[in-house]
Amino acid sequence: MRRKTRRITVGDVAVGDGAPISVQSMCNTDTRDVQATTVQIRRLFEAGCEIVRCAVPDEEAALALRGICADSPLPVIADIHFDYRLAMTSLEGGVQGLRINPGNIGERWKVQEVVRACAERSVPIRIGVNGGSLEKELLERYGHPTPEAMVESALGHIRLLEDLSFDQIKVSLKASDIRRTVEAYRQLADRVDYPLHIGITEAGTTWSGTIKSAIGLGTLLYDGIGDTLRVSLTGDPVEEVRVGWEILKALELRERGPVFVSCPTCGRCQIDLIAVAEEVERRLHDLPKKITVAVMGCVVNGPGEAREADIGIAGGKGQGLLFRHGQVVRKVPQAELADALVAEAWELVHQKGKG
Ligand code: SF4
Repeated sequence: MRRKTRRITVGDVAVGDGAPISVQSMCNTDTRDVQATTVQIRRLFEAGCEIVRCAVPDEEAALALRGICADSPLPVIADIHFDYRLAMTSLEGGVQGLRINPGNIGERWKVQEVVRACAERSVPIRIGVNGGSLEKELLERYGHPTPEAMVESALGHIRLLEDLSFDQIKVSLKASDIRRTVEAYRQLADRVDYPLHIGITEAGTTWSGTIKSAIGLGTLLYDGIGDTLRVSLTGDPVEEVRVGWEILKALELRERGPVFVSCPTCGRCQIDLIAVAEEVERRLHDLPKKITVAVMGCVVNGPGEAREADIGIAGGKGQGLLFRHGQVVRKVPQAELADALVAEAWELVHQKGKG
């Protein structure tokens, strides 16, 4: 059961209150370089990104957001630290979300200015608590950036917005280790009903970061916690989007494109199954409909899995049986297995399109 939360919208993307969990990423281009940033946003969009964030380190970056937002097919969130003027310029440029911690803005009138500008434009604010940058006072009191300290930090920022009657709020509580992150989110989820943006921050490279994110986000999502997510990877942000989707697909929370089932191979396998599986996954990556594709090495478990899938193969000696909706279609020589599966997959997509 998903946790019940309030609904906010980021541009035209609904967040919370049962809306689909959306996949976010963050540009790693220089925001001042409008051309490079818009090209990256297009690539992220094509990979399935639904909300994108851009860092706003200075006034020039804030001014560049006007051109970026005008071109972006996705709602753009401005990521701002401390300087309320950068928030104001970003809002004037058309951003559809702000990531800023009100407690770090300074005098109350500055917070008021930002809140008023957000309210006028129906722009939500994400409070982003990060274990690495907790308030000094909390660190002194708790000794470390504990989950309790992170939650207290978030509640403090929330209170500042609520005092100004602003409730278009989303919250994240990221730490670079899974246990603290999960614990902090669980505690906050018991205290407030604002939508939560989840992620394991500074998770690592594509390989290790994917594992950490899958465990951390998977645990939270399995608990019903999480309304938007970002997989943070040291790499191409397009990979973040792909991994995010795979996590949601694995938990059957969203559908997008093919679902692959393939066996690890063993001594019974008599075809080059790994090559076939990799080729099929690569070639069907952009399939626009959900189709389950099974690539199995032999007749022990193969036919069973292949029958359950929309399409599949079960390997034999130098050849494979091609299945479609549980029925054997024909025998296919090994060299043609990938082509046959890809062709079957597209035929199914076209049929589903007509149906
Ligand atoms: Fe081995 Fe066959 Fe199972 Fe693949 S499906 S792991 S080849 S027993």
